[in-house]
Amino acid sequence: MEKVKIIIAGPRGRMGREAVQLINNVEKFELVAVVDRKHGGLKLSDLEGFPSIDVPVYTDFELCLQEAKADVLIELTTPEVGMYHAKTALNYNVRPVVGTTGFTKTDLEELESLCEEKELGCIIAPNFAIGAVLMMKFSQMAAKYFNDVEIIEMHHNQKLDAPSGTAVKTADMISEVREAKKQGHPNEKETMPGARGAEFEGIRIHSVRLPGLVAHQQVMFGAEGQTLLVRHDSYHRGSFMSGVKVAVETVMKIDRFVYGLENILE
Ligand code: NAP
Repeated sequence: MEKVKIIIAGPRGRMGREAVQLINNVEKFELVAVVDRKHGGLKLSDLEGFPSIDVPVYTDFELCLQEAKADVLIELTTPEVGMYHAKTALNYNVRPVVGTTGFTKTDLEELESLCEEKELGCIIAPNFAIGAVLMMKFSQMAAKYFNDVEIIEMHHNQKLDAPSGTAVKTADMISEVREAKKQGHPNEKETMPGARGAEFEGIRIHSVRLPGLVAHQQVMFGAEGQTLLVRHDSYHRGSFMSGVKVAVETVMKIDRFVYGLENILE
């Protein structure tokens, strides 16, 4: 059996470390190189926390692509460098699986057209937790019947982007089925800016950032005399890895752009 050869960008990060472990534990996956902005020229085993993982570390991503001969890039860094990594990987016929969040609509459109041009798979998943994908799907189901909804996403205080990619994706999925509506009192006034949160097509999104949290989201629906709460909690970054595994397996079989794990789960 031919193994899937994988490069990880961001191996020292919290997600990257879990992804290295995942690849180590899956027989049909092989880590061939990592991309790290500080430790080019070393072996991964030279870095703290990776005993016996003897793959080269690159800072120069193009050199990494030229030398490592990979099938898939798992990208877990920041949106700025993540976009460069995903585009460059496609140009080298390497299929990106991107967990990095904070990409703009324009970024996504650019990647989609590059995938079409190269006829290569690319999966962007703002949330790899399968429970979170179900939370989004259940919210979309509920939105057919409840068109008043607010999203409260809660993350650790080191997260750079707000609102979270999952919250935006949830609002987007809800707005596909929800009757358009501006919520709250028509004359409502914020006496402190931001009190009512961000707005996506009339849906309010609130972002909480606290140490101790990992990734959590609740979607609250309200109607006459009742509320409905759909909630998902990721307590540990290991919760994302079953989704990363499915995405790597799937990206090898497709030749198109996919945004959101829900579009590849059967
Ligand atoms: P993290 O712990 O801060 O790790 C980010 C890693 O990226 C660090 O190792 C960092 O290196 C590296 N990095 C930053 N800039 C870089 C650059 N210019 N070149 C190469 N490497 C660079 O963050 P995390 O929690 O692992 O999250 C990583 C990304 O995944 C974020 O965008 C986060 O929102 C997203 N995320 C996605 C999911 C999902 O399910 N899709 C779940 C959780 C998180 P330094 O140490 O040198 O800064």
